[in-house]
This record gives sequence, C-alpha cells and structure tokens, in this order.
Amino acid sequence: MLLERFLSYVKIDTQSDESAEGVPSTKKQFDLARKLEQELIEMGLQDVSLDEHCYVMAKLPSNQKEDSVSLGLIAHMDTSPDMSGKDVKPMLHKNYDGEDILLPSGVVISKKENPFLQNYIGQTVITTDGTTLLGADDKAGVTVIMEALHHLATHPEIPHGTICVAFTPDEEIGRGADFFDVQKFGADVAYTIDGGEIGELEYESFNAASAKITVHGKNVHPGTAKDVMVNSILLANELALRFPVQETPQHTEGYEGFYHLNDIQGSVEGTTLRYIIRDFDRQHFEERKQFVQTTVENFAKEKNVTIDLEVKDQYYNMGEIIKDHMELIEIAKKAFLKNEVEPKIQPIRGGTDGSRLSYMGLPTPNIFTGGHNYHGKLELVPLESMEKCKEIVLSIIDEFRTISKVK
Ligand SMILES: [Zn+2]
Repeated sequence: MLLERFLSYVKIDTQSDESAEGVPSTKKQFDLARKLEQELIEMGLQDVSLDEHCYVMAKLPSNQKEDSVSLGLIAHMDTSPDMSGKDVKPMLHKNYDGEDILLPSGVVISKKENPFLQNYIGQTVITTDGTTLLGADDKAGVTVIMEALHHLATHPEIPHGTICVAFTPDEEIGRGADFFDVQKFGADVAYTIDGGEIGELEYESFNAASAKITVHGKNVHPGTAKDVMVNSILLANELALRFPVQETPQHTEGYEGFYHLNDIQGSVEGTTLRYIIRDFDRQHFEERKQFVQTTVENFAKEKNVTIDLEVKDQYYNMGEIIKDHMELIEIAKKAFLKNEVEPKIQPIRGGTDGSRLSYMGLPTPNIFTGGHNYHGKLELVPLESMEKCKEIVLSIIDEFRTISKVK
C-alpha cells in the first residue's frame, strides 16, 4: 500500500552533502537505492540497474502491439542538507480537524501561518515529530512512481506503452543530472514527480549561475597599518552594497530574478563572497552576469585592489525546451482534470533534475507530490494528495499509450 511504502522510504536516511565531492555525495543514499532495486526486480521490471553513481533505472516494457512513445518517470532519493533526515519518526494525523498541529518536540504547525491546512480537513496529514524533515521531497515522488508501477505490474490486462523509471541521487545539491545516462534511460519524454502541493504543474525554471568573488587585502600589524593595510573584509562588505538592494530573494516573487549573497568568509588578507544569480529570462540572466562582471571590475579599479571572479552556469530555464513539446503539458492537464485536480501552472523559482535533463535531450516537466514546507521540521504531506498523484500518473501513462513514436 502507498502509505506503508512511503513510511518505509522516509525512515531511510538519504541526506546529501554539498561539502562532499562526487556523486553520490553520501554513501547512505545507496541504502534506499538498493531497496528500490530489489523491489523493482521483485515486481518483474526489466533492465533493473543500480550504477556506481547511485542511479536506479528500470523498464516496464510495453504490453501492446503498437509502438508508442516511451514515457520516463523520475524522482530523487536524497533529502535536503538543510535539515537532518536521520531517525525520521512519521506521525499520522488521521481525520485532520483543521486546527494547529502540535508536534511532540514542541514545534507547532499553525493554521495561521499555514492557511493551506484548511484544504486537508478530514484527510490524513503526515508530519514528523518535529525534530527532522519528513523527506516527502522527494520520497513521495519515489513512492508514487513505485505504486503506479506496482499497479501495472499486478494488472497485466491494463494496456500501456514502455515506461522507463529512474531514481536519482543528489538532486538537492544540484548534481542529480551529472551522471544521468539519458541514452540508457531510453525514454523519449519524461516527468519528474518532485513538486509541492496538489495541482502543481511546472515547466519553467530559473536560469541559474553561481559567482565566487575573492577580494584580496593586505595585512600588517594594526599598530603600524596607516596607509598600508587593506582590509578585504570591509571592502567585500562595501562591494556587496553595490548590488541592487531590491533584487534579492526576500524582495522578489513570480517571474522576478535576483542576486543572492549566500556566504561570506574572510580575513583581512582575503574575503570570499558567494552569490547565486537567478532569472527566468535568458537575456536578463546574461545581463545579470554581465552586471556582476562590470561591478567587480569597476570596484577593483576604484579601490586599486585585486579581485578574482569566477562565474559558473548551473542550469537553464527548461521552458525554452518544453515550449516545443507543449503536448507534455496538455497531456498532464488532461490527466489532472480527469482526476478532478485543478492544474496550477506556475514557474519554479528554482530548478529540478528536469531543468538539466531537458537540455540533455529529454524534455522533463515537473508534477506535484503533494508536500508542503519542504527542507524543514514543519514538512508535511497529506496522504490523499499522494494518492491523487498516483492516479494522475496512471492517467498520464494511459494517455501516452496512444501516442505513436515519431520516427
Ligand atoms: Zn525535490
């Protein structure tokens, strides 16, 4: 059953770690990967594999004569480095009454700060005990895919095309697509099941880059520092103020982009600022990177100091690719409505594995899992939302069954 499956997955700690090299960043992600591999084999799927980078892949071959489009379904196994995912103790709030949820740790999920709770009155809301995250991001996605496969595997009379599934490591630290073998995966198109609340359907993501700015100073004894010392900490702070004050995460929403200073570390001798740069529009994104370049160059000249700048692109807006595959969105919408779920189409103010996969030749929009308050102690997911998601995935599979492969 869906619930038991979900509970068994969230109890396995799969937290990824940004500071560790390689993929997977943490060996413990294999604990879930091996379990999934085993379960896929038991279900009778074909080409089940778990590679050295912790990617689980498998195929449910078509059971019909006509050659239809191969459909991919993808979810990630890791959980966010922001909050512990160890010893997760899921709590079921059955027949939820719409009031504040008091967790054993003393943490409260208040109805005032979480107005969406009202939508789940009478449902089974799943939380933690308030000491860890839940991991519905993205074990709800993993669960939904496994349940849909299980349904088809145990009902061979239901016709379907070829279904390709992949469970990825390290999505939360932006490495989920690093070793994703699109060729081996074998799908023509795919969906990630990795969104938030019920109804979310997303096909636009940020364009994303990181910038590392290192200001070099000069340290001497403070007693004899006059006209000699160059304090890079002070310079770095001054430089940060040259960035537009309103274009930060806390001042933007919708389609607005930003510069986000997320780390600053230094001494008199040298200080490093780390930024992430985000924008939906590719042109504006390029302009933002140019702004960083120009601002740093001008500041270095003005202060007569050396500054190193390293800008790296991370991923691009998948909307650029999906706009040529809008049938993916139409099919998803149809499947949502068939299951009485109103599609909420919105841009992702972030990225998913799909952002990079779309540019690797696999158009991959994103579908909700049902969860809320990801990456923290207040995370929760209504069981009914996950069940709807499973029904929708089955409807999507059914829609694709009649779409023939373009040769
Ligand atoms: Zn996720």
